[in-house]
Amino acid sequence: MRVDFNVPLDKQYNITDDTRMQQALPTIKHVLNRGGAVVLMSHLGRPLAKLNEDGTVNVEKFTLDHLTKPLAEMLGTRVSFCPETVGETASKMAAALRPGEVLLLENTRFQKEEEKGDVEFAKKLAALGDIYVNDAFGTAHRAHASTTVMAQFFPKENRTFGFLMESEIENAGKVLNNPQRPFTAITGGAKVSDKIVLLERFLDLVDNIIIGGGMAYTFFKAQGGQIGNSLVEADKLDMALDLLRKAEAKGVKIYLPVDSVVADKFDAAANFKTTPSNEIPDGWMGLDIGEQAIGSFQKVIMDSKTIIWNGPMGVFEMPNFANGTKSITLAVAKATKGGAFSLVGGGDSVAAVNQMGLSDQVSFVSTGGGAMLEMLEGKELPGIKAITA
Ligand code: AMP
Repeated sequence: MRVDFNVPLDKQYNITDDTRMQQALPTIKHVLNRGGAVVLMSHLGRPLAKLNEDGTVNVEKFTLDHLTKPLAEMLGTRVSFCPETVGETASKMAAALRPGEVLLLENTRFQKEEEKGDVEFAKKLAALGDIYVNDAFGTAHRAHASTTVMAQFFPKENRTFGFLMESEIENAGKVLNNPQRPFTAITGGAKVSDKIVLLERFLDLVDNIIIGGGMAYTFFKAQGGQIGNSLVEADKLDMALDLLRKAEAKGVKIYLPVDSVVADKFDAAANFKTTPSNEIPDGWMGLDIGEQAIGSFQKVIMDSKTIIWNGPMGVFEMPNFANGTKSITLAVAKATKGGAFSLVGGGDSVAAVNQMGLSDQVSFVSTGGGAMLEMLEGKELPGIKAITA
């Protein structure tokens, strides 16, 4: 079973947020409860991008063994750890598993073959089990050995999605296929360049696009506004104008934040005040949307029947600049209560919703940032195709 156990760890290697592990539990337990044994594969971090000085893998930092004990506690069963991903020990340990037992393999990304999608490596992984289950939606957009390539070594009836991945696909389907209207996309976060494909795609899907966060200032700058020291991508000004023009031609309404909470430095303790977003004085930078913007965004959200949200409205990690993101989260929760379908996808908006304890008040919180974005962008994900093909 390929899971996404790519959890954040602190300096002592304690898990600081075990959401991803919790979310894989139903699928693991399902197999165990039905008399199966589970061999678990996952990556953790990017060990090959952060090698030791002598070129070796930093095992101490990136070993999945940090997760063995917490996982055993979560599952209430024995979990053994295999210090290799494939090889003689892995084969022996997998073969020795009894019903109800779990084996956690070492980080798949310790092997360069993983990210290359190496067929021989995938074949060795496949030999460790009888059935291939993919529950790692977060990596479904990567054609890696454990996420995609190994599926081909199982007959169609012996490869399947886990519950998490199945529900991600189902919920993405709810917004992509015949969504109820009005349909509103809320986008934010730091960079326009990361979101441009998504924004273009939204033009063909939605009725309204709300743009907040740091990316909004590129739009204000492109329209001739004064944005002080706010985030801007100077080489994306034409792209921003082009997007606004296309939106108008397609009848999609774009909402930018009319006002901003601006700060005199990028710091939690900075001085701050509210100004129009296109009249930000030199030396000040927009770090959150202002009250007027919140009001107008809330109105659009409350009138919507389908809502997708990707990217925070401001620097929500700093309490003084979290109000916009918080207010929008509350509005999405309220609209959901009133019958709208809401999907929150993409790393930081998920973190924001979780930080506010409101994840159970939206319809669906996606675990797969990049994978969900690619799905919304209309791409076919290799990890999904490998199961269904
Ligand atoms: P992204 O990964 O592109 O969704 O960006 C998320 C990050 O954007 C978060 O860490 C926010 O703190 C940051 N962010 C949001 N709004 C702003 C802003 N106005 N200025 C600078 N950073 C921002």
